[in-house]
Amino acid sequence: MASGHPEAATRFVADDTRAHWHDQAVWWIRQKRDTASAAVPDWEALREAAAGIKRHALSRLADYLEEFERNATSLGAHVHWARDAAEHNAIVHKLLNDRGVTRLVKSKSMLTEECKLNPYLEARGIEVVDTDLGERIVQLAKEPPSHIVMPAIHRRKEEIGELFQIHLRTKPGASDPTYLTEAARHHLRDKFLAAGAGLTGVNFAVAETGAVVVCTNEGNADMGTSLPPLHIACMGLEKIIPRERDLGVFLRLLARSATGQPVTAYTTHFLGPRAGGELHIVIVDNGRAEILGREALRGSLACIRCGACMNTCPVFRRSGGHSYGYTVPGPIGSVLAPARAPATFASLPFASTLCGSCADVCPVRIDLHHQLLALRQELARKKLVSWPKRLVLQLAALVLAWSAAYRLGGWLARRLLPLVPRRLLYARWNVWGQQRELPPMPRRSFRAEYRRRRRG
Ligand code: SF4
Repeated sequence: MASGHPEAATRFVADDTRAHWHDQAVWWIRQKRDTASAAVPDWEALREAAAGIKRHALSRLADYLEEFERNATSLGAHVHWARDAAEHNAIVHKLLNDRGVTRLVKSKSMLTEECKLNPYLEARGIEVVDTDLGERIVQLAKEPPSHIVMPAIHRRKEEIGELFQIHLRTKPGASDPTYLTEAARHHLRDKFLAAGAGLTGVNFAVAETGAVVVCTNEGNADMGTSLPPLHIACMGLEKIIPRERDLGVFLRLLARSATGQPVTAYTTHFLGPRAGGELHIVIVDNGRAEILGREALRGSLACIRCGACMNTCPVFRRSGGHSYGYTVPGPIGSVLAPARAPATFASLPFASTLCGSCADVCPVRIDLHHQLLALRQELARKKLVSWPKRLVLQLAALVLAWSAAYRLGGWLARRLLPLVPRRLLYARWNVWGQQRELPPMPRRSFRAEYRRRRRG
């Protein structure tokens, strides 16, 4: 039943300095997003248009996927369909194995993280090198990404310096970002040159043209697909957009929402394989079709993975991405994970204040807080929420439904809370009390104080 979010979050906040630093670092990106979006006069109209395009594409998904397959195939690409992670991994492995590829360079793809492709290939003797800088850092540290756009945001530059000293032989104590980035560039250049295949994610797949569009800031997707003869592009089936001109809407929203940039440094359109090369596109379901069939959660498939909902979420900022235990953390991950595996991720919909800030910044207007609320109700109905929590929620529902009960609750809280011994309020098991600064305990005994209050 437990996904471990509360426990993992407790471990994260135990390092007070890191928790504050993480909060500020992520909030800084949110502020950059605010500045960038405010500079676009038609920002809200763009969001509305993007939401409409995605709604439409999802309502005709099968048609657009088939149109995409036809057009991509006519350009010379090969399209493969994978029902789940196991099929996806088997297809990629077969493509590599049949061509004798033992070294694969990969640019950032959350889908391959979701399918656990790296360990699958490594167990079969294929070296996988993540070439996005943040991804490479977490790969060397043998840990998962903690953010979908900034995978190593939880690591300080000093820690990265130590990691690079071990793996890339940089100078001891070096933590200058320019020096470390230069070292990573040299290290990765050798990997690019030695690779037998390049694998990329897909930001958008255009049904009208059969193009796959990949956005990066480091140009690593272009390097990884220009040198080796084989390019494998892996995409979730929700990445489809109908027309080429729809791209303009999403590209204006994506980078501004993600990092506050006007546009990503590289936006590459792959229209078939390069001369003399092969392009294989793997389209993956892995639970998406089931989410599509659930009206309350369907909108989550519109996500363009910008990460803005994470950067604004007060729970994500203060608990870190690893505490979610899922490839996609934050508010959108708290919808996607329990939608697929409710028993494993039952605590995630509760890792939210339901303040609605995530929905406010989402470039495709996903009503994340409503979806989280719907999931909470569903989990409670399935009894996947612990009984004390269910009891408290039922009591809260009662109190909030009856104004007399609400007033009585307030009256009781005002009178009784100051009388409860501090040892009980701040006990280790009382998470509610630990988070609060309550009025000081009167010096009189409980009974004397109670009598005094009754008299007065
Ligand atoms: S849910 Fe919206 S804000 Fe969050 S990552 Fe997806 S597109 Fe971005």
